[in-house]
Amino acid sequence: MYDIAIIGGGPAGLSAAVNACRRNKKTILISKEEQSSKLTQAHSIDNYLGLPEINGADLARRMKEHALGLGTVFLKDEIQSVYRDGRNFFLTGRENTVEAAAVILAIGIAIGKEIEGEADFVGRGVSYCATCDGMFFKGKTVALIGYIPEAEREVNFLAEICQKVYFLPQYGFKGELDPKVKLWKGKPLRISGTEKVELLKTGNGDLAVDGVFIERAGRPADQLIEGLEMENGFIITDTNQATNIEGVFAAGDCTGRPWQIGRAVGQGQIAALAVVNYLET
Ligand SMILES: Cc1cc2nc3c(=O)[nH]c(=O)nc-3n(C[C@H](O)[C@H](O)[C@H](O)COP(=O)(O)OP(=O)(O)OC[C@H]3O[C@@H](n4cnc5c(N)ncnc54)[C@H](O)[C@@H]3O)c2cc1C
Repeated sequence: MYDIAIIGGGPAGLSAAVNACRRNKKTILISKEEQSSKLTQAHSIDNYLGLPEINGADLARRMKEHALGLGTVFLKDEIQSVYRDGRNFFLTGRENTVEAAAVILAIGIAIGKEIEGEADFVGRGVSYCATCDGMFFKGKTVALIGYIPEAEREVNFLAEICQKVYFLPQYGFKGELDPKVKLWKGKPLRISGTEKVELLKTGNGDLAVDGVFIERAGRPADQLIEGLEMENGFIITDTNQATNIEGVFAAGDCTGRPWQIGRAVGQGQIAALAVVNYLET
Protein backbone atom coordinates (compact mmCIF):
# COMPACT_ATOMS: atom_id res chain seq x y z
CA MET A 1 0.00 0.00 0.00
CA TYR A 2 1.45 3.32 -1.13
CA ASP A 3 0.56 6.92 -0.29
CA ILE A 4 0.94 7.99 -3.92
CA ALA A 5 0.91 6.02 -7.16
CA ILE A 6 2.18 7.95 -10.18
CA ILE A 7 1.41 6.60 -13.65
CA GLY A 8 4.00 7.66 -16.22
CA GLY A 9 7.78 7.99 -16.01
CA GLY A 10 8.35 11.14 -18.10
CA PRO A 11 9.34 14.56 -16.70
CA ALA A 12 5.89 15.14 -15.11
CA GLY A 13 5.80 11.80 -13.29
CA LEU A 14 9.44 11.96 -12.18
CA SER A 15 9.03 15.53 -10.92
CA ALA A 16 5.94 14.45 -8.97
CA ALA A 17 7.93 11.52 -7.54
CA VAL A 18 10.85 13.72 -6.43
CA ASN A 19 8.51 16.15 -4.68
CA ALA A 20 6.37 13.42 -3.08
CA CYS A 21 9.47 11.66 -1.71
CA ARG A 22 10.83 14.92 -0.38
CA ARG A 23 7.59 15.20 1.61
CA ASN A 24 8.23 11.71 2.98
CA LYS A 25 5.37 10.01 1.13
CA LYS A 26 5.63 6.35 0.18
CA THR A 27 5.71 6.71 -3.59
CA ILE A 28 5.52 4.25 -6.47
CA LEU A 29 5.97 5.26 -10.10
CA ILE A 30 4.60 2.86 -12.69
CA SER A 31 5.69 3.34 -16.28
CA LYS A 32 5.35 1.40 -19.46
CA GLU A 33 8.76 2.52 -20.68
CA GLU A 34 12.05 2.57 -18.72
CA GLN A 35 12.37 6.19 -19.87
CA SER A 36 10.00 8.48 -21.75
CA SER A 37 10.51 7.82 -25.47
CA LYS A 38 9.53 11.44 -26.15
CA LEU A 39 12.34 12.76 -23.99
CA THR A 40 14.95 10.27 -25.22
CA GLN A 41 14.16 11.17 -28.85
CA ALA A 42 15.12 14.82 -28.29
CA HIS A 43 18.74 15.16 -29.50
CA SER A 44 19.35 18.57 -28.01
CA ILE A 45 17.07 20.42 -25.61
CA ASP A 46 17.74 24.11 -25.56
CA ASN A 47 14.89 25.53 -23.50
CA TYR A 48 15.16 23.70 -20.18
CA LEU A 49 16.33 26.29 -17.70
CA GLY A 50 19.90 25.92 -16.50
CA LEU A 51 20.75 22.96 -18.75
CA PRO A 52 21.23 24.39 -22.28
CA GLU A 53 21.78 21.90 -25.13
CA ILE A 54 21.32 18.88 -22.91
CA ASN A 55 20.67 15.63 -24.74
CA GLY A 56 17.18 14.19 -24.07
CA ALA A 57 18.46 10.74 -23.12
CA ASP A 58 20.90 12.28 -20.59
CA LEU A 59 18.16 14.43 -19.07
CA ALA A 60 15.83 11.42 -18.85
CA ARG A 61 18.51 9.36 -17.10
CA ARG A 62 19.34 12.15 -14.65
CA MET A 63 15.68 12.78 -13.83
CA LYS A 64 15.08 9.08 -13.18
CA GLU A 65 18.22 8.72 -11.04
CA HIS A 66 17.08 11.73 -9.01
CA ALA A 67 13.66 10.20 -8.31
CA LEU A 68 15.07 6.75 -7.51
CA GLY A 69 17.77 8.27 -5.30
CA LEU A 70 15.10 9.83 -3.09
CA GLY A 71 13.30 6.52 -2.60
CA THR A 72 10.75 6.26 -5.41
CA VAL A 73 9.80 2.64 -6.12
CA PHE A 74 9.88 2.11 -9.91
CA LEU A 75 7.64 -0.52 -11.52
CA LYS A 76 7.75 -1.21 -15.27
CA ASP A 77 4.19 -2.05 -16.28
CA GLU A 78 1.30 -0.59 -18.22
CA ILE A 79 -1.66 0.37 -16.07
CA GLN A 80 -4.87 -0.65 -17.76
CA SER A 81 -7.48 0.45 -15.25
CA VAL A 82 -7.81 2.48 -12.08
CA TYR A 83 -10.76 2.06 -9.74
CA ARG A 84 -11.65 3.16 -6.28
CA ASP A 85 -12.66 0.84 -3.47
CA GLY A 86 -13.47 2.74 -0.29
CA ARG A 87 -10.88 5.49 0.12
CA ASN A 88 -8.12 3.73 -1.77
CA PHE A 89 -7.36 3.25 -5.45
CA PHE A 90 -6.43 0.00 -7.15
CA LEU A 91 -4.30 0.24 -10.28
CA THR A 92 -4.36 -2.85 -12.44
CA GLY A 93 -1.46 -3.35 -14.80
CA ARG A 94 -0.57 -6.04 -17.30
CA GLU A 95 1.32 -7.92 -14.60
CA ASN A 96 0.74 -6.16 -11.25
CA THR A 97 -1.92 -4.55 -9.08
CA VAL A 98 -0.96 -1.57 -6.95
CA GLU A 99 -2.94 -0.01 -4.07
CA ALA A 100 -2.52 3.65 -3.18
CA ALA A 101 -4.33 6.43 -1.35
CA ALA A 102 -3.96 8.91 -4.23
CA VAL A 103 -3.07 8.80 -7.91
CA ILE A 104 -1.20 11.17 -10.23
CA LEU A 105 -1.74 10.65 -13.95
CA ALA A 106 1.39 11.71 -15.86
CA ILE A 107 0.80 9.58 -18.93
CA GLY A 108 1.80 12.01 -21.68
CA ILE A 109 0.05 11.83 -25.02
CA ALA A 110 -0.14 8.79 -27.23
CA ILE A 111 1.90 8.94 -30.44
CA GLY A 112 -0.04 7.81 -33.46
CA LYS A 113 -3.56 8.93 -34.13
CA GLU A 114 -6.42 6.49 -34.02
CA ILE A 115 -6.62 4.23 -37.06
CA GLU A 116 -9.89 4.23 -39.00
CA GLY A 117 -12.04 1.38 -37.68
CA GLU A 118 -9.88 0.91 -34.56
CA ALA A 119 -12.50 2.02 -32.04
CA ASP A 120 -15.22 -0.06 -33.73
CA PHE A 121 -13.32 -3.31 -33.26
CA VAL A 122 -11.91 -2.96 -29.73
CA GLY A 123 -12.62 -6.33 -28.08
CA ARG A 124 -13.60 -7.77 -31.48
CA GLY A 125 -10.09 -8.28 -32.80
CA VAL A 126 -8.38 -5.03 -31.82
CA SER A 127 -6.25 -5.32 -28.68
CA TYR A 128 -3.71 -3.14 -26.91
CA CYS A 129 -2.01 -5.94 -24.95
CA ALA A 130 -0.45 -9.04 -26.52
CA THR A 131 0.46 -10.43 -23.10
CA CYS A 132 -3.18 -10.19 -21.97
CA ASP A 133 -5.05 -11.18 -25.15
CA GLY A 134 -2.51 -13.09 -27.25
CA MET A 135 -3.91 -16.50 -26.31
CA PHE A 136 -7.27 -15.62 -27.92
CA PHE A 137 -5.39 -15.63 -31.23
CA LYS A 138 -3.54 -18.93 -30.79
CA GLY A 139 -2.96 -20.50 -34.21
CA LYS A 140 -4.39 -17.44 -36.01
CA THR A 141 -2.99 -14.61 -38.15
CA VAL A 142 -2.42 -11.25 -36.50
CA ALA A 143 -0.72 -7.92 -37.16
CA LEU A 144 1.00 -5.78 -34.56
CA ILE A 145 1.34 -2.05 -35.20
CA GLY A 146 4.10 -0.64 -33.01
CA TYR A 147 4.78 3.02 -32.24
CA ILE A 148 7.47 2.32 -29.59
CA PRO A 149 10.29 -0.27 -29.31
CA GLU A 150 8.38 -2.11 -26.52
CA ALA A 151 6.35 -3.53 -29.43
CA GLU A 152 9.25 -5.85 -30.33
CA ARG A 153 8.89 -7.88 -27.14
CA GLU A 154 5.16 -8.17 -27.75
CA VAL A 155 5.49 -9.22 -31.40
CA ASN A 156 8.06 -11.89 -30.51
CA PHE A 157 5.65 -13.23 -27.90
CA LEU A 158 2.85 -13.39 -30.49
CA ALA A 159 5.19 -15.32 -32.81
CA GLU A 160 5.31 -18.08 -30.17
CA ILE A 161 1.56 -18.65 -30.24
CA CYS A 162 0.12 -17.37 -33.52
CA GLN A 163 0.31 -19.06 -36.90
CA LYS A 164 1.36 -15.89 -38.74
CA VAL A 165 2.43 -12.51 -37.39
CA TYR A 166 2.96 -9.28 -39.33
CA PHE A 167 4.89 -6.46 -37.67
CA LEU A 168 4.33 -2.85 -38.79
CA PRO A 169 6.81 -0.64 -36.90
CA GLN A 170 5.94 3.06 -37.12
CA TYR A 171 9.29 4.22 -35.72
CA GLY A 172 12.95 3.71 -36.70
CA PHE A 173 13.00 -0.05 -36.12
CA LYS A 174 16.48 -1.55 -35.73
CA GLY A 175 15.86 -4.53 -33.46
CA GLU A 176 15.80 -8.28 -33.97
CA LEU A 177 12.68 -10.30 -34.55
CA ASP A 178 11.65 -13.91 -34.21
CA PRO A 179 12.14 -15.44 -37.71
CA LYS A 180 8.40 -16.24 -37.75
CA VAL A 181 7.54 -12.52 -37.76
CA LYS A 182 7.04 -10.92 -41.18
CA LEU A 183 8.19 -7.29 -41.23
CA TRP A 184 5.65 -5.20 -43.16
CA LYS A 185 6.51 -1.69 -44.29
CA GLY A 186 3.65 0.74 -44.68
CA LYS A 187 1.23 2.82 -42.68
CA PRO A 188 -1.92 1.27 -41.24
CA LEU A 189 -4.90 2.86 -42.96
CA ARG A 190 -8.08 1.01 -41.97
CA ILE A 191 -9.23 -1.92 -39.87
CA SER A 192 -12.36 -3.61 -41.18
CA GLY A 193 -14.50 -6.73 -40.95
CA THR A 194 -18.09 -7.76 -40.30
CA GLU A 195 -18.56 -9.17 -36.77
CA LYS A 196 -14.82 -9.32 -36.09
CA VAL A 197 -11.61 -7.98 -37.61
CA GLU A 198 -10.90 -9.48 -41.01
CA LEU A 199 -8.70 -7.01 -42.86
CA LEU A 200 -5.97 -4.46 -42.19
CA LYS A 201 -5.56 -2.06 -45.08
CA THR A 202 -2.06 -0.59 -45.25
CA GLY A 203 -0.23 1.80 -47.56
CA ASN A 204 1.59 -1.25 -48.90
CA GLY A 205 -1.38 -3.56 -49.53
CA ASP A 206 -4.10 -5.42 -47.63
CA LEU A 207 -3.47 -7.99 -44.91
CA ALA A 208 -6.08 -10.66 -44.11
CA VAL A 209 -5.87 -10.95 -40.32
CA ASP A 210 -7.91 -12.21 -37.36
CA GLY A 211 -6.57 -9.62 -34.99
CA VAL A 212 -4.72 -6.30 -34.81
CA PHE A 213 -2.56 -5.43 -31.82
CA ILE A 214 -1.59 -1.79 -31.31
CA GLU A 215 1.34 -0.77 -29.11
CA ARG A 216 1.50 2.96 -28.30
CA ALA A 217 3.28 4.85 -25.51
CA GLY A 218 -0.09 5.26 -23.83
CA ARG A 219 -3.81 5.36 -24.35
CA PRO A 220 -6.50 7.97 -23.65
CA ALA A 221 -6.85 8.71 -19.95
CA ASP A 222 -10.62 8.24 -19.85
CA GLN A 223 -10.05 4.60 -20.87
CA LEU A 224 -8.08 4.20 -17.63
CA ILE A 225 -10.53 5.74 -15.16
CA GLU A 226 -14.25 5.79 -15.63
CA GLY A 227 -15.85 9.21 -15.27
CA LEU A 228 -12.65 11.23 -15.76
CA GLU A 229 -13.53 14.55 -17.35
CA MET A 230 -11.67 15.36 -20.56
CA GLU A 231 -11.82 18.11 -23.15
CA ASN A 232 -10.42 17.75 -26.69
CA GLY A 233 -8.51 14.66 -25.57
CA PHE A 234 -6.88 16.29 -22.52
CA ILE A 235 -7.59 15.77 -18.82
CA ILE A 236 -9.31 18.75 -17.20
CA THR A 237 -7.59 19.92 -14.01
CA ASP A 238 -7.85 22.87 -11.65
CA THR A 239 -4.87 25.04 -10.66
CA ASN A 240 -3.81 22.36 -8.13
CA GLN A 241 -3.75 19.74 -10.91
CA ALA A 242 -6.80 18.06 -9.33
CA THR A 243 -9.16 16.25 -11.70
CA ASN A 244 -12.91 15.89 -11.19
CA ILE A 245 -12.28 12.62 -9.30
CA GLU A 246 -11.31 13.16 -5.67
CA GLY A 247 -7.81 11.84 -5.00
CA VAL A 248 -6.84 11.77 -8.70
CA PHE A 249 -4.47 14.46 -10.02
CA ALA A 250 -2.88 14.93 -13.45
CA ALA A 251 0.25 16.61 -14.82
CA GLY A 252 2.23 17.15 -18.00
CA ASP A 253 1.35 16.69 -21.66
CA CYS A 254 -1.82 14.73 -20.80
CA THR A 255 -3.37 17.95 -19.45
CA GLY A 256 -2.80 20.08 -22.57
CA ARG A 257 -0.39 22.29 -24.47
CA PRO A 258 2.33 23.45 -24.70
CA TRP A 259 3.95 20.01 -24.74
CA GLN A 260 7.15 21.06 -23.05
CA ILE A 261 9.43 19.68 -20.36
CA GLY A 262 9.34 22.81 -18.19
CA ARG A 263 5.56 22.75 -18.00
CA ALA A 264 5.51 19.00 -17.25
CA VAL A 265 8.05 19.36 -14.43
CA GLY A 266 6.19 22.32 -12.90
CA GLN A 267 2.82 20.58 -13.02
CA GLY A 268 4.34 17.41 -11.57
CA GLN A 269 5.55 19.41 -8.58
CA ILE A 270 2.19 21.14 -8.07
CA ALA A 271 0.36 17.81 -8.30
CA ALA A 272 2.65 16.16 -5.73
CA LEU A 273 2.24 19.00 -3.23
CA ALA A 274 -1.53 19.02 -3.75
CA VAL A 275 -1.63 15.28 -3.09
CA VAL A 276 0.31 15.81 0.14
CA ASN A 277 -2.36 18.31 1.25
CA TYR A 278 -5.12 15.92 0.17
CA LEU A 279 -3.62 13.07 2.20
CA GLU A 280 -3.22 15.23 5.29
CA THR A 281 -6.80 16.53 5.36
C1 LIG B 1 11.49 14.59 -30.76
C2 LIG B 1 11.01 15.42 -29.57
C3 LIG B 1 11.76 16.50 -29.18
C4 LIG B 1 11.33 17.30 -28.11
N1 LIG B 1 12.09 18.38 -27.76
C5 LIG B 1 11.70 19.14 -26.72
C6 LIG B 1 12.48 20.29 -26.34
O1 LIG B 1 13.52 20.60 -26.93
N2 LIG B 1 12.03 21.03 -25.29
C7 LIG B 1 10.88 20.72 -24.59
O2 LIG B 1 10.54 21.42 -23.63
N3 LIG B 1 10.13 19.65 -24.95
C8 LIG B 1 10.50 18.87 -25.98
N4 LIG B 1 9.73 17.78 -26.34
C9 LIG B 1 8.49 17.52 -25.60
C10 LIG B 1 8.74 16.77 -24.27
O3 LIG B 1 9.48 15.60 -24.52
C11 LIG B 1 7.41 16.47 -23.60
O4 LIG B 1 6.68 17.66 -23.41
C12 LIG B 1 7.62 15.79 -22.25
O5 LIG B 1 8.33 14.57 -22.39
C13 LIG B 1 6.26 15.55 -21.57
O6 LIG B 1 6.45 14.91 -20.36
P1 LIG B 1 5.30 14.02 -19.69
O7 LIG B 1 5.89 13.47 -18.45
O8 LIG B 1 4.05 14.80 -19.61
O9 LIG B 1 4.99 12.85 -20.73
P2 LIG B 1 5.93 11.78 -21.41
O10 LIG B 1 7.34 12.24 -21.45
O11 LIG B 1 5.28 11.43 -22.68
O12 LIG B 1 5.88 10.54 -20.41
C14 LIG B 1 4.74 9.79 -20.21
C15 LIG B 1 5.11 8.35 -19.90
O13 LIG B 1 3.96 7.66 -19.40
C16 LIG B 1 3.96 6.35 -19.90
N5 LIG B 1 2.59 5.83 -19.87
C17 LIG B 1 1.53 6.25 -20.61
N6 LIG B 1 0.43 5.55 -20.30
C18 LIG B 1 0.81 4.67 -19.33
C19 LIG B 1 0.12 3.67 -18.61
N7 LIG B 1 -1.17 3.44 -18.82
N8 LIG B 1 0.80 2.93 -17.70
C20 LIG B 1 2.13 3.15 -17.49
N9 LIG B 1 2.83 4.10 -18.16
C21 LIG B 1 2.18 4.84 -19.06
C22 LIG B 1 4.50 6.51 -21.32
O14 LIG B 1 4.96 5.28 -21.81
C23 LIG B 1 5.60 7.56 -21.11
O15 LIG B 1 6.85 6.95 -20.83
C24 LIG B 1 10.14 16.98 -27.41
C25 LIG B 1 9.40 15.86 -27.80
C26 LIG B 1 9.81 15.09 -28.88
C27 LIG B 1 8.98 13.89 -29.28
